[in-house]
Amino acid sequence: MAFDVFEYAPAPESRAIVQLAPSYGLFIDGEFRESSDGKVFKTVAPASEEVLAEVAQGSAKDVDAAVRAARAAFPKWSALPGAERAKYLFRIARVLQERSRELAVLESLDNGKPIRETRDADLPQVAANFFYFAGWADKLPHAGYGPDPRPLGVAGQVIPWNFPLLMLAWKIAPALATGNTVVLKPAETTPLSALFFADICRQAELPPGVVNIVTGDGPVGAELVAHEGVDKVAFTGSTAVGKSIARTVAGTAKKLTLELGGKGANIVFDDAPIDQAVEGIVSGIYFNGGQVCCAGSRLLVQESVAEEVLDALKRRISTLRVGDPLDKNTDIGAINSAAQLARITELADAGEAEGAERWSPHCELPSSGYWFAPTVFTHVTQAHRIAREEIFGPVLSVLTFRTPDEAVAKANNTPYGLSAGVWTEKGSRILRMAQQLRAGVVWSNTFNKFDPTSPFGGYQESGYGREGGRHGLEAYLDV
Ligand code: NAD
Repeated sequence: MAFDVFEYAPAPESRAIVQLAPSYGLFIDGEFRESSDGKVFKTVAPASEEVLAEVAQGSAKDVDAAVRAARAAFPKWSALPGAERAKYLFRIARVLQERSRELAVLESLDNGKPIRETRDADLPQVAANFFYFAGWADKLPHAGYGPDPRPLGVAGQVIPWNFPLLMLAWKIAPALATGNTVVLKPAETTPLSALFFADICRQAELPPGVVNIVTGDGPVGAELVAHEGVDKVAFTGSTAVGKSIARTVAGTAKKLTLELGGKGANIVFDDAPIDQAVEGIVSGIYFNGGQVCCAGSRLLVQESVAEEVLDALKRRISTLRVGDPLDKNTDIGAINSAAQLARITELADAGEAEGAERWSPHCELPSSGYWFAPTVFTHVTQAHRIAREEIFGPVLSVLTFRTPDEAVAKANNTPYGLSAGVWTEKGSRILRMAQQLRAGVVWSNTFNKFDPTSPFGGYQESGYGREGGRHGLEAYLDV
């Protein structure tokens, strides 16, 4: 098998811009290699179920080799002047920009999300994170964590499939800027962009061992988290896995940050600009097909405008196009995997069985691939599973409220605490709500807006620690 597969010249347009090799290896110590036991898994395009490539399934031995490579690279990397580390990060950011069309197509293929999102949201954010943290690399003594903050060592990072490259950027950029080295495990359904990123590290001449990518399933992540050569664990994914990682790390000296699930409330008051709110509700729950930890998956709408908002919302949803992720007119792409589709279907069926009213516009879904029509549930009560559990799909649960206090009580009635939205003309109300909502981020008159300068993270079962902004540095420093 040829593992060094990045010698193709990209063709100019659309899918042809991504030249996929039949198989991809692990990236350890600056080289692509087969897994120690030769095992592979297939990664498929969720929109067609077409096999995109075979990818090496890392073993415990591979995790060990990757951690050793990262350990060996650490002394030199951490001793570099910050300005020198910054140069590598700037270089990576620029290559990411140069290759952004290719990476956007790749991400849409492997994840199933619309090209409009990967091209206009994910990829610009990925590069922006590297630019932003490059800027911190030589200013760490001024970040507020003491005159001489030190890196922790080797960071073991495990990421999910919903924003493969962006989650990688959130993890790797601050780790490198602060002088740590990295072993990252991407999700098993979206391994490709992390391997293309490994190629970009080589293109940027990052020293071998500073970034290592080990592909594979959950047990590979568990090996990485438990490895004694890892000093810091950063995880984004489900609350259930996050809890098991917290148990593994307990009693060790490892530092841990967890970014977990959510059940965000999007709260619309009667004085809100309704058209704008409808756009925000739509992007809150249908961006990335609702496969977003901070999705506005519960709409709380004030009773007096509920009918008006719902009518406008249904009209707007009826115009959404579901289909081919590579079509630039597509609004909602494929669900990432058969397993995720089954989870969404099960919860939506439970919504109906428990008595909520289900609505979807007429839309013809492709015959192959994993698809779920945009769905709205009304007559939802707080006891329903669709109001309590994270669905992680294009399913909106609508509840109503009469007073601001009732809105806060309902919004906070969740074990999670990641995001919320407030739609109102009153600035004072926005401030009061932001103080009372237990959510890591509260958007006002907008939703799902991200910026590398802004810290992101959760309360309660949404996890702990912050990524992004100055606060995001702390997770990678001995302060
Ligand atoms: P998941 O927890 O099953 O998987 C996430 C990653 O963890 C994958 O790489 C997986 O291989 C790995 N993994 C699985 N079991 C593991 C174990 N025992 N030890 C170590 N690693 C393990 O989650 P998922 O289904 O891939 O992703 C969806 C979930 O992630 C949702 O619940 C969503 O809310 C959450 N999420 C949260 C954020 C955030 O920033 N808070 C962002 C994206 C996704």
